[in-house]
Amino acid sequence: MPGLRFIDIGANLADGMFRGLYHGKQQHPGDMSAVLKRAWDAGVERIIITGISLHDSREALALADTDGRLYCTVGVHPTRCSEWEESGDPQKHYQELLALAKEGAAKGKVVAIGECGLDYDRLIFCPAEVQKRYFEKQFDLAEATGLPMFLHMRAAAEDFKNIVEKNKNRFRAGCVHSFTGTNEDLQKMLSFPNLYIGINGCSLKTSENLEVMKNIPPGRMMIETDAPYCGIKASHASSKHIQTTWPSKKKEKWNEESLVKDRNEPCQLRQVFEVVAAVVGEKDHVSLARNFYENTCKVFFPHDIDTLANTVLANSASNGS
Ligand SMILES: [Zn+2]
Repeated sequence: MPGLRFIDIGANLADGMFRGLYHGKQQHPGDMSAVLKRAWDAGVERIIITGISLHDSREALALADTDGRLYCTVGVHPTRCSEWEESGDPQKHYQELLALAKEGAAKGKVVAIGECGLDYDRLIFCPAEVQKRYFEKQFDLAEATGLPMFLHMRAAAEDFKNIVEKNKNRFRAGCVHSFTGTNEDLQKMLSFPNLYIGINGCSLKTSENLEVMKNIPPGRMMIETDAPYCGIKASHASSKHIQTTWPSKKKEKWNEESLVKDRNEPCQLRQVFEVVAAVVGEKDHVSLARNFYENTCKVFFPHDIDTLANTVLANSASNGS
């Protein structure tokens, strides 16, 4: 699979499934190195591991430390926002998140604050008022570290927009990942010039999703897997556009050479890319992949922009164009 280079901006590699744990039950040995090898072989050059709680962000950073191509975020997911108050001392919780983000950023490993935001589809895990309070609190983290934001928005576009509006000068840039909203929601997000949209299998389930995705300007889009979640299933409108597949087995029949059925992996970023390319009708896959890569570097790897520009210049010089 030569030629295409990708960055998976969101993979939950600290999830138990990559250690063989499903609902607390050990189904197979941990297989992180096989999962990562498949990703690198598929053209994924970097993976940003999503942190969803203080504890999980610590694990994400520990994992990111194991490979030069792994990075992570530090933050608290909207459905996990009760942890601020359950900790008994929200201000201390904040200080611990800040210390972790600063420690990781100094090593070049923590590249964003998040994921954070609002999820009104899953209020049973955390009420809207608590979600709003601690979404807003995480702009303090972004401001204190200068890091961009990795954002989550489900069925909450109006409140989300209002909170971003209030805080828009406190963060450099961000990506609203796993976008599944309507076109109206999309326009609300795009009204902030420093917000990008992250697309994964969940963003491409229905023909309506595909139509909305087509309205994202290429300069504002990134791709991700949200592994082990949000895989593309045969029943999705997107599935007919997939070109690359891997052998897969049920978790009970696991072997290291196969994907696990219903466990999404970073290598499958390639499938997200194939669907987007087909639906937007872009035949030049190299330049479309480069476009997503550059958008990602602009937001999450700003130090690499110069290096990237030099590579592009060197390539075009050697091509004589
Ligand atoms: Zn999310």
